[in-house]
Amino acid sequence: MKILTNILNPIDRETVEFLDEHIIEVEKGTVISITPKTKNTAKSKLKDFSKSVITPALIDAHTHLPQFPIAGNYGYELMDWLNSYALPAEMDFENLQYAKNLSKKFFEELKKVGTATAVIYSSIHKGSTDIAFEEAEKTKLRIFMGKVMMNQNCPKELCENAIQSLSESYELQKKWHEKNEKLQYVYSPRFAVSTSPELMHEAAKLSRLNKTFLQTHINENKHEVDFVKKTYSKTYAQVYEDAKILGPKTLLAHAIHSTKEEFDILQKTKTNIIHCPDANLFLNSGQFPLKEFENREIPIGLGSDVGAGTTLDMFQIMKSMIYRQDDLIPIESPFYYATKGNARILDINSGEILEGKNAEFLKIDFKDSLKSSKEILKKLIFSQDYKRELLIL
Ligand SMILES: [Zn+2]
Repeated sequence: MKILTNILNPIDRETVEFLDEHIIEVEKGTVISITPKTKNTAKSKLKDFSKSVITPALIDAHTHLPQFPIAGNYGYELMDWLNSYALPAEMDFENLQYAKNLSKKFFEELKKVGTATAVIYSSIHKGSTDIAFEEAEKTKLRIFMGKVMMNQNCPKELCENAIQSLSESYELQKKWHEKNEKLQYVYSPRFAVSTSPELMHEAAKLSRLNKTFLQTHINENKHEVDFVKKTYSKTYAQVYEDAKILGPKTLLAHAIHSTKEEFDILQKTKTNIIHCPDANLFLNSGQFPLKEFENREIPIGLGSDVGAGTTLDMFQIMKSMIYRQDDLIPIESPFYYATKGNARILDINSGEILEGKNAEFLKIDFKDSLKSSKEILKKLIFSQDYKRELLIL
């Protein structure tokens, strides 16, 4: 298949290139060439998207499927918000029919907003997580997902026994991890408040042994950080380092209130940090230390964190990233993180439009014809006055 179009492609945090009237040739789901249109190009043999702009499909590196119905439930900071809204929503997810319907709706929404890859927490429930994977398998989306693991400081309906939590996670991992090239299992202990260091440690062992990612949360809210300090008499990152869960296959969401020693630990262990700015604004959690992480070259990803994030739309998350920083940041930076940056962290061959990469595109139609990367990014991030269509070829 050959597509005539205009291409918007991330290069780095400060550079996005715009290629006017190019032809993307795709074979078996892979981009095999990108060439400028010439006078001799016969339009009849092309799919004509010459009035559209094509970007890489978006990637969401952190979100919670069972919390989708409560996105936008406002009024609390993290701990009260979890108890009032998020955890009850996860209790509802135990019902298998409900889980099936909600999973369908969630994956439909991902497609609608142009996200081809998402890293997802389910609830603690094995059966419902299994069903969510079944629904994921029916889509063309690339889904990284795992059941939540929690065994302390949680409502009794969501409190697991550590052995059972490990065995159920392992069974799901055996069934779904790399079942096809689009599905990966992710060990998903919730956070140091509700998952014991022993359970974290065992989950990390299974994750390393089976070459999966592990995801959890760190340093999101001051009350949460104080609770962890009081419980363990050490910093949050130290709890995780001692449980041996840190490393390049670990995804830590938030990391807002990190101390110097914690930055050192995260840098030394090459742990990935997933920034979720919309959730940080919504729960009044604080400002992500973007510059410090960038200066230390600690890998950063970008996530919606629905339901604390109010939307799965990664362009809205990019806007929140810009708004959440006190200093102005380049408009290219959030676009880079939601595409190429996230792809690097997840080690997938996507996030860019280049020869050899997966043909996962987002086709955008604006009312006017826009001819520079900055003009296009401004419209994408700050207006909603365009149509979009996810193309997974
Ligand atoms: Zn989260």
